[in-house]
Amino acid sequence: MTRRKPPAGAVTKAPDGLPYPLVEHWEWQDHAACKDVNPELFFAAESERGMRKHAREMLAKSLCGTCPVRRECRRHADLVGEMYGVWGGSTEEEREPALHCRPH
Ligand code: SF4
Repeated sequence: MTRRKPPAGAVTKAPDGLPYPLVEHWEWQDHAACKDVNPELFFAAESERGMRKHAREMLAKSLCGTCPVRRECRRHADLVGEMYGVWGGSTEEEREPALHCRPH
């Protein structure tokens, strides 16, 4: 018996809220402009605030602007309710309104 593939665009999430570990859910990351970049560019250190945070986020967002999978990255962040970091060219503050609109 073969496993039925979900329809294109269907979102199938594991109980922990992350997409199931299927290649088609994660392969976009192979094409990420940031795949060889230090993740610290995208995530604030606990003590980071103000202009330093803003400057780092602007740098991260400029890389996202060149990324061929920006849309997939943002969709993933929205799907899992990613609360931290720059994803798909959006900061955590920019995604925050969408987080409050998520169904529980
Ligand atoms: S959009 Fe930005 S954070 Fe997302 S994969 Fe591309 S470079 Fe990385």
